[in-house]
Amino acid sequence: ETKFAGMEVGYDVPALPGMSVNEIQTPCLILDLDALERNIRKMGDYAKAHNMRHRAHGKMHKSVDVLHLQQELGGAIGVCCQKVSEAEVFVRGGIKDVLVSNQVREPLKIDRLARLATRDARIIVCVDDLANVAELSAAAQKHGTTLECFVEIDCGAGRCGVTTAAAVVALAKAIDSAAGLKFAGIQAYQGAMQHIDNYEDRKAKLDIAIAQVKDAVAALKVEGLEPELVSGGGTGSYYFESNSGVYNELQCGSYAFMDADYGRIRDQGGNRIDGGEWENALFILTSVMSHAKSDKAICDAGLKSQSVDSGLPFVYGRTDVKYVKCTDEHGVIEDPNGVLKINEKLRLVPGHCDPTCNVHDWYVGVRNGRVETLWPVSARGKAY
Ligand code: PLP
Ligand code: MN
Repeated sequence: ETKFAGMEVGYDVPALPGMSVNEIQTPCLILDLDALERNIRKMGDYAKAHNMRHRAHGKMHKSVDVLHLQQELGGAIGVCCQKVSEAEVFVRGGIKDVLVSNQVREPLKIDRLARLATRDARIIVCVDDLANVAELSAAAQKHGTTLECFVEIDCGAGRCGVTTAAAVVALAKAIDSAAGLKFAGIQAYQGAMQHIDNYEDRKAKLDIAIAQVKDAVAALKVEGLEPELVSGGGTGSYYFESNSGVYNELQCGSYAFMDADYGRIRDQGGNRIDGGEWENALFILTSVMSHAKSDKAICDAGLKSQSVDSGLPFVYGRTDVKYVKCTDEHGVIEDPNGVLKINEKLRLVPGHCDPTCNVHDWYVGVRNGRVETLWPVSARGKAY
């Protein structure tokens, strides 16, 4: 492909289209494109069948290319992301409906956000403080743009957001009457329950959240401020929001790639959700570089290739070997029967997909044992 012309394998990119998987330079991220496309279609079909908009969470993959795939194959209506710098990447990448599902308070960041709304994209931001309404309004007026606002409800995550219906109404009213702003709806993401293993325990947490959101929406209707969008939901909860009768927009992210931590949670039937509900599509490809100890293989993917905040990776498709330890540049794999060979490539499923993707430059897209494409991790490191 011409877009890779002149690029040098190893120096610029870990692989080039057309290569066999065995030639990929490791450690690097690979995407099983068939699995990825199936996950994306499946979520798209689910959302459509339940009359939900899907605003894919781009903070997970930080990739304009994956987001376009989510729009094209999965009917996603746009993106949500956590940072103004991520929003800038997605807007420049042609995404037209962008939610910063977070508070933006620094004056320069507010200015950047207001400017971004000049670029033919709908920009929405979360608000949980009346003072922020005035700040956003001033910036939008300065740039002659419209910033849309979601009032954020803290429905159990214990982070940003207000907790009472009265506070929601007060903020919505202030937004509604502020020049340059539009009240667009509610942000209500219950982040603390997504990774609870048991389905019934997750449901109990979401029941509370849904009751809280219904209460707030009823209070808004009394004031003539019915929200256009009620947004939330992740890979561990989307079916609850979809059947709530009050949410109309989902924000799932991890379902597309999956990770070891999400693999452990259980569906309604008690089954792990990886290999059933969602397939592993993201892997750290690693190579065995030492087997000087007969019962241990050392691979080239350590701490700098992944995040271990949610635990160590597992070796995909193998029960005979186990990734047990990592240091900066080494991974230790227990190999009691000494079956692994030098240069053998293994697929690791990372503990937590989001922060793992953030430490790589490229996704190597693989199909049928060959490299099909390379996608940059476009918003890698964009935390400001
Ligand atoms: N919405 C918000 C506000 C989030 O912070 C996240 C992830 O943490 C998500 C949605 C996506 O959730 P998941 O990756 O669990 O699907
Ligand atoms: Mn995550």
